[in-house]
Amino acid sequence: MTLESLPSQIVVGYQTVGVYVDEMIPASNVAAYSAAHSRIHIDSSAHHTNEDIVNSVIHEVLHACFYTSNLSRLDPGEHEEMTVTMLANSLTQVFRDNPDFLDWVRFSIEKTNCSQKQN
Ligand SMILES: [Zn+2]
Repeated sequence: MTLESLPSQIVVGYQTVGVYVDEMIPASNVAAYSAAHSRIHIDSSAHHTNEDIVNSVIHEVLHACFYTSNLSRLDPGEHEEMTVTMLANSLTQVFRDNPDFLDWVRFSIEKTNCSQKQN
């Protein structure tokens, strides 16, 4: 269910990132983001729960955030992986355990609401 309803594209910064459920992933990984190709690949056979899938998608989206925001130039290498992993794990838990909060965020930043916010 979770993979079937996964969006085929996610906008991150200036990139429209294609999301593919396949096995075009480097060995020992369960998902991957390619900055050069603006793609996220998710290996469906490597995930056993919805939380695992959501966590992997959030993880790869955070890699895309790291790249498109240019943070990767400040902090290349191991720190990116540690930072992304920590943030993905934390956000997955916050989203899972606080559905009212997630609904509030989604409602508050809907495009129609954002366009009304002119200060
Ligand atoms: Zn990673």
